[in-house]
Amino acid sequence: MKQPVRVFKFGGSSLKDASAVKNVSKILQDYKGQPLAIVVSAMGKTTNALETVVEAHAARTGEAFAILNDIKAQHYRLIDELFGKEEEEVYAAVNDTFVEVEWVLEEEPHENYDYMYDQIVCVGELASSKIVSAYLNKIGLPVQWLDARDIILTDDIFREGWVQWEETLERSARIARPMLAKGGFILTQGFIGSTTENFTTTLGREGSDYTAAIFSYCLDAEDMTIWKDVPGVLTADPRMFENVVKLDRLSYKEAIEMTYYGAKVIHPKTIKPLQNKSIPLYVKSFIDPSGEGTLISDEVEDNYPPMVAVEPDQCLLSISTRDFSFVAEHHISHIFNLIAGLRIQVNMMQNSAISFSLVINDIDDKADRLAEQLKDTFKVLRDRGLELITVRHYQQDVLENLRRGKIVLLEEKIKDTTVQMVVKDVPVMRRKLVADKA
Ligand code: ADP
Ligand code: ASP
Ligand code: MG
Repeated sequence: MKQPVRVFKFGGSSLKDASAVKNVSKILQDYKGQPLAIVVSAMGKTTNALETVVEAHAARTGEAFAILNDIKAQHYRLIDELFGKEEEEVYAAVNDTFVEVEWVLEEEPHENYDYMYDQIVCVGELASSKIVSAYLNKIGLPVQWLDARDIILTDDIFREGWVQWEETLERSARIARPMLAKGGFILTQGFIGSTTENFTTTLGREGSDYTAAIFSYCLDAEDMTIWKDVPGVLTADPRMFENVVKLDRLSYKEAIEMTYYGAKVIHPKTIKPLQNKSIPLYVKSFIDPSGEGTLISDEVEDNYPPMVAVEPDQCLLSISTRDFSFVAEHHISHIFNLIAGLRIQVNMMQNSAISFSLVINDIDDKADRLAEQLKDTFKVLRDRGLELITVRHYQQDVLENLRRGKIVLLEEKIKDTTVQMVVKDVPVMRRKLVADKA
């Protein structure tokens, strides 16, 4: 019989400094002796900082080493605070991971930006996992450190690796299970995997939740918990909205819909592997671990309050033919081939006889590249800096509130439950106190 195991994931905000790491270890004390697989992200905003290292190296600004040194120094300060200055072993282990990035920076920037990105940003998770596992061992919580790249095999699409499930399952059974059988916790990194040639890949920004779901699936976990700085899944992002309430229970389907359209509390890819094996997912607060959190499972009645997700940085492309012919099937097929080639996520689309509108995530220079590739056949207008607002289980007054002070460029109702709109801010006009003299 397979040994029961639970999977916990701690993200960047739960590990942002020494007192945060101590708080995590306090939560874990309650699970001492139980089989537990722990997935950790990079500390705080380390991944954002590492992205600037990649950009500096690619652009040859000469600043890459300086930025990396700052990141390194932050990690060493954390080691000092957690272990005291005499700690040599953890310091050496973390230093080894940074040395590998220094080797990358000593070379010319690699022609494949995404490949280079993954070889650099992975150090965030490698360093944090080494520090946290050493700290847990120091305080009497036995932990075995596991390199996630030995388990999660992906294809070679860098920055967005696709999991090769069969091999990943086989490696989990061969490597991770025997480690768990020895007793104690195992601790590994979120976000990273590796190709068959042993190059590091990443699973997409904020991908550590997904890693925890991959481990949960492969180890047939009893349940999975992601520990966040919020009491659970709320009806909207509390950073943007007032009067939000916690949802005690949520179906997998509802959670997939919400996260796909921008509810940033869980990475959208997380839910499906759990749903496939009916593994319950708890979203709980690391600030108040005794709180009940949100339970995501399949035993939920569909009776929800309105929920709102906002996805910023959207670009609306309005595409029309140059010869004023109708937008026909072969045009749409051509447009979608280009979108697939550029790996663009389409969030909304609408067509009329002579124009086709697409709302896409405005990441990197993809909207420009798409417009460039379309320009011979089509006239393309771009409207940038937009927000995509998705409201599930909407009520009219909620929609009216959301439309206030905005211009709605595109709106769509999906079945009876969902309204999506793409909006831009309009400056509020005010009468001047004294009329300007002409
Ligand atoms: P992690 O530390 O795991 O990286 P994140 O910061 O990515 O955690 O996710 C937690 C944040 O998600 C919260 O602080 C909150 O601002 C945001 N968030 C967005 N939408 C929601 C929502 N519907 N419910 C709860 N939190 C949300
Ligand atoms: N550290 C990675 C990121 O910030 C992965 C994660 O935190 O989930 O994107
Ligand atoms: Mg995060």
